[in-house]
Amino acid sequence: MNIINTIADIKSALILEKEKNKTIGFVPTMGALHDGHLSLIQKAKQDNDIVVCSIFVNPIQFNNKEDLEKYPRVITNDIKLLQNNDCDYLFNPSVDEMYPKPDDTIFDFGHLDKVMEGNSRPGHFNGVAIVVKKLFEIIEPHKAYFGEKDFQQLLIIKKLTEICKLNVEIIPYPIIREKDGLAMSSRNLRLSKHGREIAPNIFKVLAEAKTLKNKLSVLEMKEFVNKKINNFQEMEIEYFEIANAETLLPIKDWHDSKIAIGCIVVNIDEIRLIDNVIF
Ligand code: AMP
Repeated sequence: MNIINTIADIKSALILEKEKNKTIGFVPTMGALHDGHLSLIQKAKQDNDIVVCSIFVNPIQFNNKEDLEKYPRVITNDIKLLQNNDCDYLFNPSVDEMYPKPDDTIFDFGHLDKVMEGNSRPGHFNGVAIVVKKLFEIIEPHKAYFGEKDFQQLLIIKKLTEICKLNVEIIPYPIIREKDGLAMSSRNLRLSKHGREIAPNIFKVLAEAKTLKNKLSVLEMKEFVNKKINNFQEMEIEYFEIANAETLLPIKDWHDSKIAIGCIVVNIDEIRLIDNVIF
């Protein structure tokens, strides 16, 4: 695997690959890689000749300084994992390399970034969009891979490619879970032992909720999930919203959308854990 830190070097390496008519699959990440990320790498490898993974903890998408400072950084281990998973290029730039000067672009995603994560983390998706657009312009991949765990982010990235007419196909990938059901996340590393033990209940509640879809109204479903999660003293529910999975507009009735999604954030040990369920 080639490890590259500068924009100029990755661009010139990939020009040579494209001259050989190689297709490029791209997996942007913030590192502390786990099987969720690695499944994206493997899928990218199946679909393309060359896989590029980026590891960049993007400061402008964090609206909480402590969250940015405490974000796990384990680059030596990440490199090993990428090598074992047939990644061809790791792009691992510094903050100065990505932002030689501040980028004040403001995107208009309409309703999409006003709800849920957009509402809880002001500016977050604008920061995500700035960095993903920059990365797409540097790598110029044929396909880019994003996890459905960050479902709202996936819709924002699709919208970004439309708004900016970026020539890249966005490929979604299902949530990868631990054996006990907890959605894999780099932030899980920061949970206390007890926090880690109770965290799988987020998925257990969502899975139970899914089985009750025909019995409960949308409002009753929201009450059910809130009540179940609040039964755990150490879990604090930040939001649970049921929305149209294409627009993220909230629904009042199951018939309001072809596919409904329930999106949740639960805080344990002051760590935000995100998950979702398709109803
Ligand atoms: P991150 O490093 O958290 O920014 O995530 C990088 C990419 O991996 C994003 O597209 C995430 O949605 C995806 N991802 C993170 N966790 C998972 C998971 N458990 N299953 C599938 N994809 C994931």
